Amino acid sequence: MSSVAHPSPVPGLDGRTIVVTGAAGGQGLAAVRLLVAAGARVLATDVVAEAPELDRIDASYRQLDVADGAAWELLAAELDDDLDGEPLRGLVNNAGITHRSRLGETRREDWDRVLAVNLTGPMLGIQALAPLMSDGSSIVNIGSSAALNAHYPVAYTSSKWGLRGLTHVAATELGSRGIRVNIVHPGFIETLMTEHAPTAMRDAQLALTPLERVGQAEEVASVVAFLLSDAAAYVTGAEIPVDGGSTSSAGVKFMADRIAGR
Ligand code: NAD
Repeated sequence: MSSVAHPSPVPGLDGRTIVVTGAAGGQGLAAVRLLVAAGARVLATDVVAEAPELDRIDASYRQLDVADGAAWELLAAELDDDLDGEPLRGLVNNAGITHRSRLGETRREDWDRVLAVNLTGPMLGIQALAPLMSDGSSIVNIGSSAALNAHYPVAYTSSKWGLRGLTHVAATELGSRGIRVNIVHPGFIETLMTEHAPTAMRDAQLALTPLERVGQAEEVASVVAFLLSDAAAYVTGAEIPVDGGSTSSAGVKFMADRIAGR
């Protein structure tokens, strides 16, 4: 499957408690693997009841629907007890869903569901867990290259543009407490989410991507781990595309390749 070597564990995460949402598979699972390898104490969460992939990893698992405010409050209260005065050092707002329908076809309930998970979820998570954080803690939101362009699934694209706004507001508000907030924008990454993407979408994505391949979950995880670590101590309010250059090229590669007869 992946031709990409797993990156080396990031230094400086040893013993730090980090919460990851949407951790049962895909990019969330890759992030948990890397953070555990780097010595972090990871609380992996997901909407599913069981996450068998996590059984083989030294991480705790807890069911959490990110759109459920009461569930976040309960998690915050339990963590507060468990941490026993230690700060929570990280939150990765990774859970996300897509709904591939266009503007004219999107039903209200689909719009609401996508925004509840992709945008309201991270907002509730930050509200609940930021009070447990202190100087040096880090929040990483998982956006999308769709947050940098006009990708056709309107609810998904709008939710991820909204997440950029939330990231900048949170970075501004939490900066005085030394809490950093950044957003990573994956391009086309091979996970369950893209497994059934239309072939035309995958082909077009490859034609638009300077590195001429899709990405792997581990390649996003390494950037997430960097942002959680002190190596990124002066990085906040930043947006980092992890997309093989697709949003940087902004369609120009497609044109240049045609002109060159490729
Ligand atoms: P995935 O479908 O493999 O994983 C998403 C995870 O989120 C699943 O484990 C799912 O159970 C969980 N989840 C769904 N609803 C939830 C909820 N209400 N509460 C908690 N967990 C919930 O997809 P992925 O590619 O690993 O996606 C991870 C993140 O990356 C998402 O935010 C997604 O939007 C973003 N992203 C993915 C791609 C890509 O190409 N795969 C590109 C850009 C951005």
